[in-house]
Amino acid sequence: MKRGAQFSGLRGGGGVDQVNADKDREFYLKELASEECQCGCEKNKGRTFCFGCYRKLPREIQSRLYSKLGHGYEEARELAAGFLGD
Ligand SMILES: [Zn+2]
Repeated sequence: MKRGAQFSGLRGGGGVDQVNADKDREFYLKELASEECQCGCEKNKGRTFCFGCYRKLPREIQSRLYSKLGHGYEEARELAAGFLGD
């Protein structure tokens, strides 16, 4: 399964804010590319969490995790972290 290409190509702007945004972006991209969930379980690449963590989340957050980076993903990821005690 190859996913992830959809997460590239959102560059633009510049300055310090952009640098910070890129740093966060790298964190999220690495997380998505990883095969280990924050809980230590195995997960699929392209997914934020393993199935066990994912199903603990409210439906609204589950669906928002399908947003693209820069289009609501970051917010959904942070909300999810709050629920999972990350
Ligand atoms: Zn997990």
